[in-house]
Amino acid sequence: MSASEPSPGPLTALDLRGGVRADRRTFIRLAAWSGAGLAVGHCGVRALWAQGPAQRPVYAMILVDYNRCTGCRTCETACAQFNHPVTVDGEELRGLGNPYLSNIRVHAFNPDADVPVVCVMCRDNPCVAACPVEPDAEGLRALYRDPELLTVRNDPSRCIACDACAEACRTQRVGAIIPNRETNRPERMCTLCGGDPQCVALCPYGALSYIKGGLDGRHYALPPERIAVELIARWYGPAQGGDVR
Ligand code: SF4
Ligand code: SF4
Ligand code: SF4
Repeated sequence: MSASEPSPGPLTALDLRGGVRADRRTFIRLAAWSGAGLAVGHCGVRALWAQGPAQRPVYAMILVDYNRCTGCRTCETACAQFNHPVTVDGEELRGLGNPYLSNIRVHAFNPDADVPVVCVMCRDNPCVAACPVEPDAEGLRALYRDPELLTVRNDPSRCIACDACAEACRTQRVGAIIPNRETNRPERMCTLCGGDPQCVALCPYGALSYIKGGLDGRHYALPPERIAVELIARWYGPAQGGDVR
């Protein structure tokens, strides 16, 4: 890019839906609509929404700007370090940062396009709705939304490892849930790092943002292959779009 050439603006999954960049009016309409869509799929969270505004939890998500991501995978290391700490002499320290354990995963495509995938916190949570375990007294299934951060969590003591949640996310949204290789229970759901997202803080290129309220993750829910096709068509020409690997 030459010095006189303006740097490209943000490019998110919402821009890529339907292969058309959403104009400002569309974006505002979607954001307003999603702000009104408060019906989530279990009683526990509905009860929280019945509280006053000051007590209500706020949906938050990690938003990716594909124009900035270089595929360096620092986010994977940061995530694994924070979410899988180690204890040394009684002191809890950040873990080794094995990317395999990360809740954000960077998919690499050819021609060069890097697509970080992380739970987009869909308000209609098809993953939770797919869980066949009967709700408990709190209205929570074995897969449920954390009452405070609204992240997706699993109760291993009730989970029957049926893969229904992972299948729902994989086929209807982004494929954020990866079953454990040994137990088949769901893993890799974003924890938002307790409200201090480490991937956002440590991304060297500012490709990740922590968005609180207003947006509905389901509008950003595109599988990585679909995103890659759109990115490659934009960056390398439409003829390359069908050659995604
Ligand atoms: S750290 Fe940032 S630039 Fe690197 S792969 Fe992750 S999102 Fe992309
Ligand atoms: S992205 Fe997947 S895991 Fe996250 S809320 Fe949506 S369906 Fe559930
Ligand atoms: S917010 Fe935290 S848990 Fe979620 S992807 Fe980023 S580092 Fe991982």
